[in-house]
Amino acid sequence: MYSNNETVLFLDRKFVKANESTTDLYSQTLHYGYGAFEGIRSYDTKNGTKVFKAEEHYERLKKSCELVKIPFDYSVQELVEATYELLKKNNLKNAYIRPLVYCGQNMSLSKPTSVSVMIAAWDWGAYLGDKLLRLTVSSYCRPHPKSIHIEAKVCGHYVNSILATNEAKDNAFDEALLLDSDGFLAEGPGANLFFEKDGKLFTPQLGNILPGITRATVLELAEQLGLEVQQGKFYKEDLFQADSAFYCGTAAEVVGIESVDTYQFPKSWNESLGKKLQDAYSLLVREPLKQLHLNS
Ligand code: PMP
Repeated sequence: MYSNNETVLFLDRKFVKANESTTDLYSQTLHYGYGAFEGIRSYDTKNGTKVFKAEEHYERLKKSCELVKIPFDYSVQELVEATYELLKKNNLKNAYIRPLVYCGQNMSLSKPTSVSVMIAAWDWGAYLGDKLLRLTVSSYCRPHPKSIHIEAKVCGHYVNSILATNEAKDNAFDEALLLDSDGFLAEGPGANLFFEKDGKLFTPQLGNILPGITRATVLELAEQLGLEVQQGKFYKEDLFQADSAFYCGTAAEVVGIESVDTYQFPKSWNESLGKKLQDAYSLLVREPLKQLHLNS
């Protein structure tokens, strides 16, 4: 359950009861998927509740709206403050935060005439990350960047993610892995891919993927740990020769991959570079001071 009778939402600069809020059935977002959203997490740290990379997430939301021409008249700071207030009002510490910019009544395919900003949050307990994923290469590819703005987190793009996830689960896999329209490795339905070969890390370059904030954090952590990472265009055959691999994203953090179709990664997860990064990420988001101390 995402809400109960007490849950409060942020909606158009007000805090309102979730069970008293309504939505317009003539919304352009509902009909055409024309809206933008974010997925953010907060953690109960020793310094109180911290929203991880809040500014980066709201910057991306703003950019998503700009790219698809949805008016966005909030400052990043205002939304960051609203998020902390929302967490306080709902007594949440470890939470998943879902901002959504959605359009009002407009059944035409033109720019929206009215826009709303909603932020919801719900409890999201510690994720242990010890279960490894069994992936399958999807028959769906990521949308071509000339058809949509792939770097924008737009509601309608997620039909592609849902199709790929359903296909993977219907075939008894945990998760899908999507290629881009040229057949290069792209990403998961809601996470970015890294793989390890001969002590080095590889990840698909930007251009056909969502530029994940966790991906950027993993790149920073890899640099701090002295790990070499190559961003580029890779084929699935490269992955089928890799030693280990992982997905990363706000929701799953860093999660190891056991296999892709019939290929099993030979290296044990606990000895992989991914495991090192998983631990470093977990420390960074939950104990930011300790991480700073470790690096100083
Ligand atoms: N790719 C896709 C398609 C996603 O939906 C997500 C989740 N936002 C990611 C990658 C990972 O992005 P982030 O690390 O910013 O959560």
